[in-house]
Amino acid sequence: MKLYEYNAKLIFKNEGIPIPEGYTARDTSEVKKIFEKMDKPVALKSQVLVGGRGKAGGIKFAEDPQNAVEVAEELLSTEIKGEKVNILLVEEKVSIQKEFYVSVAFDRANKKPLIMASAEGGVEIEELASTNPEKIVKYHINPLDEFLPYEGREIARKMGVGSSLISPVGSIIWKLYQVFQKYDAQLAEINPLIITDKGIIAADAKLELEDDSLYKHKEFMELDEYQEEEFAFVKLEGDIAVIGNGAGLTLTGMDMIKLNGGEPATFLDIGGGASPDIIKKALNLVISYSPVKVIFLNVLGGITRADDVAKGVIKTLEESERKVPLVIRLTGTNEKEGQRLLDAAGISFETSMESAAKKAVQLCNSL
Ligand code: GDP
Ligand code: MN
Repeated sequence: MKLYEYNAKLIFKNEGIPIPEGYTARDTSEVKKIFEKMDKPVALKSQVLVGGRGKAGGIKFAEDPQNAVEVAEELLSTEIKGEKVNILLVEEKVSIQKEFYVSVAFDRANKKPLIMASAEGGVEIEELASTNPEKIVKYHINPLDEFLPYEGREIARKMGVGSSLISPVGSIIWKLYQVFQKYDAQLAEINPLIITDKGIIAADAKLELEDDSLYKHKEFMELDEYQEEEFAFVKLEGDIAVIGNGAGLTLTGMDMIKLNGGEPATFLDIGGGASPDIIKKALNLVISYSPVKVIFLNVLGGITRADDVAKGVIKTLEESERKVPLVIRLTGTNEKEGQRLLDAAGISFETSMESAAKKAVQLCNSL
């Protein structure tokens, strides 16, 4: 699972890696407010999961509020390599003296984490590897040994960053490795790591987590833009929206989709005791997420009442403009009433999670 730049940056910041001052916005009025608060030139960065945004026109700069609003409007109405832009990261524009590259990735061939670093940052690593492979320092780590701060400095020295930068760059490399380990990452990358007159800053951030370890990291889910909401919501890369009541059930639902050959588009945990309104909010959230082709709603009523869920589903489907097919598994508290309501509204349901997941994948494949 890939995280957006702003999520990755928050995690990096928690680990002590400096990032530029910045805030996320979903519309132009938010951008205006942010600009007025920051009151300095900004970079507006499209939050998409594809790489090479800069070259694709996904990063723009603005010097005044009116300009910022115009630029935001443009970015929010375009697609970057086919990906719609829903979120902008509005950051202080920094002046760059030097750009470096640092990353930690799991090297499958050697079954070890591999640190790659270069004093020639800013370009994609694949490009650098083909044009100037000798400028990339590679360092394998034995996962059983501790990675020590002096090793970070050793890598910085090999990069040729100049004596005054060996210690700060080495320290960032060490911290990046801590992030990589702590979050069971497949990739943690800073490109570019920049030198400014104010010091060293991660100007970009990439973090790709191991899907199989997600259950261990509920904390990063709280970093999502929906942290204010009643539920935990994470966007993923597939096309089947998975919604469940409770994190465990939602994760199991995701597994079931995968077992049947499908790919989850969301992790959305509506929590316990969800009202019809919360169900409606949750459904609308996934309906408005464009990659979603089918919704798999997996409810095992406990505190959550099946009749409340049914009411929320019926109301949302009636009102929604975008018609997304839904497969619902509904059992537990007040299930008879919930199932009766669905029946009356002509919405079919399943009582087993396995058959519902299978149906959702089949439905998705047939679209
Ligand atoms: P990417 O294209 O998705 O990798 O996006 P990045 O965040 O890495 O930005 C691409 C390039 O834009 C960087 O390598 C910088 O050269 C430039 N850039 C990004 N943010 C700033 C900024 O705040 N100030 C300046 N001067 N350049 C920036
Ligand atoms: Mn970059």
